[in-house]
Amino acid sequence: MKLLRSYLADFTSLLFPELCPACGESLVAAEDVICTDCRYNLPFTNFHLQPDNIVARQFWGKVDIEAAYSLYYFAKGGKVQNLMHHFKYSGMHRIGNILGSIAGDQLKQNDKFNTVDYIIPVPLHKSRLKQRGYNQSKCFAEGLAEKLQANVHDNNLVRVRATETQTHKSRFLRFENMQEVFKVMQPDELANKHVLLVDDIVTTGSTLEACSIELVKIPGLKLSIATIAYAE
Ligand SMILES: [Zn+2]
Repeated sequence: MKLLRSYLADFTSLLFPELCPACGESLVAAEDVICTDCRYNLPFTNFHLQPDNIVARQFWGKVDIEAAYSLYYFAKGGKVQNLMHHFKYSGMHRIGNILGSIAGDQLKQNDKFNTVDYIIPVPLHKSRLKQRGYNQSKCFAEGLAEKLQANVHDNNLVRVRATETQTHKSRFLRFENMQEVFKVMQPDELANKHVLLVDDIVTTGSTLEACSIELVKIPGLKLSIATIAYAE
């Protein structure tokens, strides 16, 4: 019976193959959401091995952080863009969990990241959350948390103000736009903890910076950053 079921599953997948959201190739039976080739060959940044990487540098002289990491380089028209597009718009939460798990496998062996206590996804404003149904950064956080044996906290840091679209603004205006957008509701909970703040894509880092400024006000808090992708 089991054999028949797996035969039928293979047969169904011949008729309606599930596609890898990064490269678009059909998945074979043992592959889960992302194909084996993409799992090993998407453009890893390996930022966890370079303490002075380009994302960490964005925080220099602004906010004191322990470490910064991105899983992939994002390039226009590339496989990582396809992956992020599916993750964002086709409701495939599992993509986020799997990417968190891939990132977690790299970070759990790293001295900077394996001391993380809490993982906090960059929050969406309530109206945006309602519209989208879920916060994709939380899916990534959950995959990471499992590997790092940390807990996801998604109701302490909140977005108190919705922001206009950032795309056409200068760096300074973006920063102005981000002032007083985020608030920590229960700072005591995070005192003396190592917090990993996570987001989907980092470009100029202004959103992460605005969150970080609020978090590092908490006594004894150590802060690190992780994102799925880094885009220039
Ligand atoms: Zn693929």
